[in-house]
Amino acid sequence: MVDVGFESLGLSRELLSAVKARGYTDPTPIQSAAVPAILSGRDVLACAQTGSGKTAAFGLPLLERIRTTPRERPRRLLALVLVPTRELAAQVAEELRQLTQGFTRSIAIHAVFGGVSVNPQRMAMRGGADVVVATPGRLLDLVERGALRLQGVTTLVLDEADRLLDLGFAEELQRILERLPARRQSLLFSATFPPKVRSLADRLLTSPLKLDVPRVDIETPSIEQRAIAVDGHARSDLLRHLLRAHAWPSVLVFVATKRATEHLAEQLCRAGIATAPLHGELSQTSRSEALARFKASEIRVLVATDLAARGIHVEELSAVVNYDLPRSANDYLHRIGRTGRAGNVGSSVSFVRAEDESHFGLIEKRHALSLAREQIQGFERTEAEAPRAIHVGDSSGGIKGRRKSKKDKLREAAARAANGPPDPTKTDRGT
Ligand code: AMP
Repeated sequence: MVDVGFESLGLSRELLSAVKARGYTDPTPIQSAAVPAILSGRDVLACAQTGSGKTAAFGLPLLERIRTTPRERPRRLLALVLVPTRELAAQVAEELRQLTQGFTRSIAIHAVFGGVSVNPQRMAMRGGADVVVATPGRLLDLVERGALRLQGVTTLVLDEADRLLDLGFAEELQRILERLPARRQSLLFSATFPPKVRSLADRLLTSPLKLDVPRVDIETPSIEQRAIAVDGHARSDLLRHLLRAHAWPSVLVFVATKRATEHLAEQLCRAGIATAPLHGELSQTSRSEALARFKASEIRVLVATDLAARGIHVEELSAVVNYDLPRSANDYLHRIGRTGRAGNVGSSVSFVRAEDESHFGLIEKRHALSLAREQIQGFERTEAEAPRAIHVGDSSGGIKGRRKSKKDKLREAAARAANGPPDPTKTDRGT
């Protein structure tokens, strides 16, 4: 635990009481390091994950600046926070609103995101906004309709920058950057730093303070990581067995497809386990409802795709199950980082089929892990390990999926043609 209190970070009395009302007693490492730097006007580049307290790390100084900026009518948009998903937009906006509780000056904080009708968001902003937390596409939409002006923005935050780029928002980001004033403070937060995030940071930031907070989250949570060897067809039974064997109150199960979320959720419900699916094709209302019920402990298991689960905060998540393995090592980190927060011990369990061995091996390698494969009695894996597939790896980013792209196939064909028949003694690493 850090030994400096919130009082030493340079925050006003109003914000200190908001922090206290929120129940935060000590700043997290990222907050101790980032708050004074951001207050002083510096750009910041932070390697920080969900659970590290990063929202308040940029939120507190951002609100401090807005609190003391002379007011204009209508309100001038001063701070823009870009996030990859609608859930995260709603959560970040809510956390910021919580931090303004008790302010003498009202601060208008709006979340804007796609997937819902644009008009209510447009109407809500008629009186102007001080802070907008947005997904890039919807933000551009609103700017283009004249509902928002970016010329007055003094602080830009990119939250979960790696996800923003993973989700293909590079072009929208560029268009937004072109519309922002050149003189501004920029803050970039990301859990991982593949080359594309580094190059974005280079373009965006001026002499930033670089912060790399330890991976440990608030009050050093611990995550027990397990890998269970199991046949594909036995995974659903194994999951039910684990849910019976462990008193996990709230479990997030990751699967690969929308269809699988519904199918598995249905099977678990039939087994008497309160479960809901969460995927991108559900309406915003159904998603919010599923999340609210999960948070209220009315349902025990949420079966989700990576996309739908991105950025979700559930304080007491007790276990994460990788029913289908994540496609990349980064996704593995994002998935398991959802448990073991706020001082709790969390469990993560990965189901590893024979055909997943080489893929999971690469994930382990990226995170310097070596997990023993457990065999659970009655669910022992019987399938033989497939011959190791060729992985066309990206040395810095994730492991590209198991499916070969057209380009990979062409490259392999070219290599075969150049080298003659394959040599079975050669290793499996692609180029
Ligand atoms: P974040 O990393 O911003 O997603 O925050 C993760 C969780 O930690 C959120 O639920 C915050 O409300 C909570 N949190 C943030 N800062 C602190 C703090 N200093 N002490 C305790 N909890 C915190």
